[in-house]
Amino acid sequence: METDTTKGKLVDYRNLVNARRVAAGDDRWIDSYDPYRGEPWARVPRCTSADVDAAVAAAKAAFRSGPWRGLTPTDRGKLLVRLAGLIEANAERLGQLETRDNGKLIAEMGAQTRYLAEWYRYFGGLADKIEGSVLPMDKPSNFTFTRHEALGVVAMITAWNSPLLLLSWKLAAALAAGNTAVIKPSEHASVSTLEFVALFEEAGFPPGVVNTVTGFGPEAGSALASHPDVAKVAFTGGDFTGQKIYEAGAPTLKHVSLELGGKSPNIVFDDANLDAAVAGAVSGIFAATGQTCIAGSRLLVQRTVHDRVLDKLIAIAATAKMGNPAESTTQIGPVTTRAQHARILEMIAAAKAEGARCVLGGGVPSDPALGAGWFVQPTIFSGVVNTMRVAREEIFGPVLSVIAFDTEEEAIAIANDSVYGLASGIWTGDIGRALRVSSAMESGTVWVNTYRAVSFMAPFGGYKRSGIGRESGQESIYEFLQTKTVWIETNLSTANPFALR
Ligand code: NDP
Repeated sequence: METDTTKGKLVDYRNLVNARRVAAGDDRWIDSYDPYRGEPWARVPRCTSADVDAAVAAAKAAFRSGPWRGLTPTDRGKLLVRLAGLIEANAERLGQLETRDNGKLIAEMGAQTRYLAEWYRYFGGLADKIEGSVLPMDKPSNFTFTRHEALGVVAMITAWNSPLLLLSWKLAAALAAGNTAVIKPSEHASVSTLEFVALFEEAGFPPGVVNTVTGFGPEAGSALASHPDVAKVAFTGGDFTGQKIYEAGAPTLKHVSLELGGKSPNIVFDDANLDAAVAGAVSGIFAATGQTCIAGSRLLVQRTVHDRVLDKLIAIAATAKMGNPAESTTQIGPVTTRAQHARILEMIAAAKAEGARCVLGGGVPSDPALGAGWFVQPTIFSGVVNTMRVAREEIFGPVLSVIAFDTEEEAIAIANDSVYGLASGIWTGDIGRALRVSSAMESGTVWVNTYRAVSFMAPFGGYKRSGIGRESGQESIYEFLQTKTVWIETNLSTANPFALR
């Protein structure tokens, strides 16, 4: 484990580069805030391009030569499975660190850190089942086959809302495929990643296979995303940053996968079980204080059941317990950053100005017990029109837009009228409708009569501005592989060398 030194009240965490714990070369630091207390509690290194160079060099050396290169896929898989056991043994502690650092509920972060191990077991098992093929050839004298080979150094840049889960969706597959990694977590929640990577050393991964660089996006992140020795960038974050990552990778033609934001529609038809639908709507927008990429932030409700659904929704959301995210009974915690707090309040003001009706919340809670934490009341707007900003922009907070519709066709049109396409939900008792509407949705995930379900077995990713590529599930390992075709001539000849063979 990382052994911390304490400076004043703040705990210092260092990066892992080539199996050594290092501060930034120029010894600059970033304060990491506890969102519940509204004050810094830890420091992480503020890396520059020189630190990024060192981390990428370590990952490149580990990929090119040394013990990692020599491991069989089965050996790599065994390491990943051993790591999974260590993750389980440390899940509670890692969950508590995430809650301290990003303010999300321990109920949520603890469940995520306990679940992480499954990604490493799943991809550990997959490591030695990636088969090339012998091709049936039109040229009988050729024996031609394919192999799937690792890309090299993979940069992983992650968001603050679920640091270890989002990292593991990339890292487990990338390592199973034989790559090495340099990880840049969010400046707002780096601590759990710095603690987590110690488990790779304990599991026996060779030096340099997993490295970290903490720091600011435009500084360390940008240097990593454009580094000539990085073969691929696997990114989770906002769509505008995703665009910059894509641009940064263009000059050296990097492989890029982007897991971006959303404005996901959650559609309630009048033939649905309304209690289940309302529970799904609450989970879609108020769980994690709305800070999830898959937030069901647009609730489309058939007009015939609109008022009943809204009443039930308000009844649950109005009584949700706000408080200390480290307590297991808390249902709504603070938002992670002061800037995000201000942005959510700005979007609430914009919705009011545009004429949406605020039927719940709409501001900062007045309860003095919430102290200096960055809290926003669970907020519901009804009468929202899909052209309003509140229905078009990702807010990343506990703000729900309720939009009424009359027909299935209208619901589909409203749902798809978004630049995003990450996820959608459908609540219906009619299997024909479930199949019709799920097929019409322009999104990478569709949930029918459930919401916010993810698994290591199920591909996840976005349509449209919500992303490129898929994480989780068997197909996602190919995001970290490239195909080589090998041709062997079995009948040497001197055919015309100036013509295509
Ligand atoms: P950002 O896009 O602001 O940041 C994501 C990461 O990119 C951070 O590590 C950030 O560093 C880094 N970064 C910022 N600028 C650059 C740059 N110019 N070059 C390289 N890296 C950079 O997103 P947030 O952290 O605010 O996360 C919220 C967003 O993430 C939401 O849009 C959400 O929907 C999305 N998300 C998507 C998920 C998915 O799977 N599709 C899952 C979870 C979240 P720093 O923190 O220092 O700015």
